[in-house]
Amino acid sequence: MSIKENQDSIRVRFAPSPTGYVHIGSLRTALFNYLFAKHSGGKNILRIEDTDQTRKVEGAVENLIKVMGSLGIEFDEGPIQGGNYGPYYQSQRLEIYRKYCDELINNGAAYYAFETPEELDEMRRLQQLEGRQTMYDGRARNLSEDEVRDKLQKGMPHVIRLKVPADREIRFTDAIKGVIKINSNLIDDQILLKSDGFPTYHLANVVDDHLMNITHIIRGEEWITSVPKHILIYEALGWHAPEMAHVPLILNKDKSKLSKRQGDVAVEDYLKKGYLKEALINFISLLGWNPGEGEENEFYSLDELCKIFTLEKVQTSGAVFNPEKLNWMNNYYIKNYDIDRLIELSLPYFKNSGISSSDDIKKILSAIRVYLNKLEEIPIHLKIFIQEDITPEPASLKDLLENDDSKKIFSALKSKIEKLDFVNAENYKQAVSEVQKETGVKGKNLFKPLRIALTGSENGPELPLIAEILGKEKILKFLGKWI
Ligand code: GLU
Repeated sequence: MSIKENQDSIRVRFAPSPTGYVHIGSLRTALFNYLFAKHSGGKNILRIEDTDQTRKVEGAVENLIKVMGSLGIEFDEGPIQGGNYGPYYQSQRLEIYRKYCDELINNGAAYYAFETPEELDEMRRLQQLEGRQTMYDGRARNLSEDEVRDKLQKGMPHVIRLKVPADREIRFTDAIKGVIKINSNLIDDQILLKSDGFPTYHLANVVDDHLMNITHIIRGEEWITSVPKHILIYEALGWHAPEMAHVPLILNKDKSKLSKRQGDVAVEDYLKKGYLKEALINFISLLGWNPGEGEENEFYSLDELCKIFTLEKVQTSGAVFNPEKLNWMNNYYIKNYDIDRLIELSLPYFKNSGISSSDDIKKILSAIRVYLNKLEEIPIHLKIFIQEDITPEPASLKDLLENDDSKKIFSALKSKIEKLDFVNAENYKQAVSEVQKETGVKGKNLFKPLRIALTGSENGPELPLIAEILGKEKILKFLGKWI
């Protein structure tokens, strides 16, 4: 397999049909294109495939560009950046498609068809009845030139179809999947231009990939069945098809195709929940790609990925999307993130807590970040810092607070804390170790009741840190409750 990665004129494109949100699969395609372009010093192009007017969603393109930008995926050419190959919206290129469609008609590779939707339905119904494959039967191929001219003059609605040759083996080599062959008899006479004058995906995609000098097409495997039709169009126009690389499907854990039903598929939802962009990018990069056999490190920054990404290491079989792995990876990034940047990202989750001093936020975040799979979990962990009264949970923990040893340590600690001007982690620890000496209660018997008395729970961040944030007054109040 030869992938011309070092050629300076490498040009790849991400060609979404914006539908309102960015699907995880789209992000993976965009990312692989970006990484491939960066790795090879090539250009990454954004082209908006918006020829299906029924699927148009207001603001979808702006949203897409924003999401990509916020994740660090940049484009060298596109609707915002411009470039020498624009316009980059297909809806602004209709005349171009029309021109190539005419060329296809003139050289006999395409033809006009005038069937009404009812006629086509009837055709399919009969094919089904006869147990045949339902596909357009090519009936308009038989119209004479005069008949066509006549119908056009009458203004009859029409489409333009690709004249797929009979009995040909169409072959191509996919950089990931290898050699693919298909008999042309299985291919429909694909509509190229619709009755509303808009091109179909197939025509627009081929024309643009050629005119935009795209050298490599990297996209999801679901598009592989379109390639034979595209090859016929390239041939009929006398063009070379770019290299193709179809990346494996993203699957749910049960191996079904990643779907909304089983969890979030919109990248925006992950960002909203507080998945860090570095974690998302890292996780998505591993969906169908791996750094190489024997390589155990799974943590890569976007820059590192740009250096090591190659198509050779894209796998052929489906890639399972494992939300637990994403959580694990996000937790790793949260734990290791620059604390000041983490604070910035976390502020929205502190909003309704009443905790506003940046000092407190920093201390709390440092204490709880090891527990966070995503930032939206922050409020759950804030409870212990903002509660005004302690109700042990589960309620059975209360017994432990009411035994004699516990009462003894609470009283001893209370009188030590009363003498302090303020509490910090250090002097709290010191006070507790003095209590241990004085009372003889130690280990679990000492620490567990203290934790429950101060937080209501058996586990959580380090107690001296919590004590520092609670402050003298609250500690006294909480200990006092059980004495
Ligand atoms: N517009 C197609 C999409 O929505 C592009 C497929 C391709 O990359 O050719 O994904």
